[in-house]
Amino acid sequence: KGCLFLVPTPIGNLEDMTFRAVKTLQDADLIAAEDTRNTKFLLNHFEITTDLISFHEHNTAQRIPELIEKMNAGVSIAQVSDAGTPSISDPGKELVKAAIEADIAVVPLPGASASTTALIASGIEPQPFYFYGFLPRKGKERTEALDNLSNRVETSIIYESPYRVVKTVEDLKRFFGGDRRITLARELTKIHEAFLRGTIDQAIEYYQDHDPKGEYVLILSGKIIEEIEDMSDSEIINSIDLLIQS
Ligand code: SAM
Repeated sequence: KGCLFLVPTPIGNLEDMTFRAVKTLQDADLIAAEDTRNTKFLLNHFEITTDLISFHEHNTAQRIPELIEKMNAGVSIAQVSDAGTPSISDPGKELVKAAIEADIAVVPLPGASASTTALIASGIEPQPFYFYGFLPRKGKERTEALDNLSNRVETSIIYESPYRVVKTVEDLKRFFGGDRRITLARELTKIHEAFLRGTIDQAIEYYQDHDPKGEYVLILSGKIIEEIEDMSDSEIINSIDLLIQS
C-alpha cells in the first residue's frame, strides 16, 4: 500500500519549507493540492516535478474514494493545502479519516501553521490554548461561538480575513469586554509582519485610523487568567482563603 503524507507548506516565507517537506513532495507519486496552480508555483520554486491532482472542499466527497483506491494500489500521496498545515482550517481531515479506516499509513510532517506562529509571539499565556479557527460569519452560531469563547479560561486562537477583522474585534468587545488582552498578528513570516498587542479597546481605537492589511490571527487571553492578573495581592489571598474554607 502507498502512504498518505500530510505536508505543511509556508504561510508566506518560502524559506519556511522544510528539507523533509521538499523531499517528501519530490518522492511522492502524486500531490493532492487544494489549488493546483498555487502549489505549482511552490513546486517550481523547489524544482519538484511530481504530478498534481486537485483536492479541495468542493470535490472532497468525489476525490476521497479515488485517492484511497490509488493508495491501496501502492501509490503514495502527499496532501498539501494552499498555506500552512493541512486540516488546520483547511482541507484534509476527511481524507485522513478515510485513510485510517482503509488501514493506510498516515505520515504527518511538522511545519508552518499561522496558529502557533502567532501564539508564541503574542505575549499572552501560550498554554493551555484553544484553537478555534474561523468564527461563524453570522447569526446564532456566531453569537454562541463568541459567548462560549469569552468564558473559556484558555488562551483562544481565531483566524480572520482583513475584510472582517474590524467587525470581529468589535463583536469581541461585546462578549469579552474592552479590557480583555488581545494580540493581532498579521502577515506572519512576510515582509510586513506586524503584531498589535494590547486590549480589545486599544485594538478598536487603532483600527479607527488604520486599514487592516493581510491575513490575521487573533490571540485572546483566557478569562480566569485575566481576572487573576487584574486582582490585587490581598484579593488573591482572600479568594484562596475562601477556597480553602469551602
Ligand atoms: N492551514 C493554515 C495554517 O496551518 O495556519 C490555515 C489556513 S486558513 C484557510 C487561512 C487563515 O490562516 C487566514 O485567514 C489567517 O487567519 C491565517 N493565516 C494564514 N497565513 C497567515 C499569515 N501569514 N499571517 C497571519 N495569518 C495567517
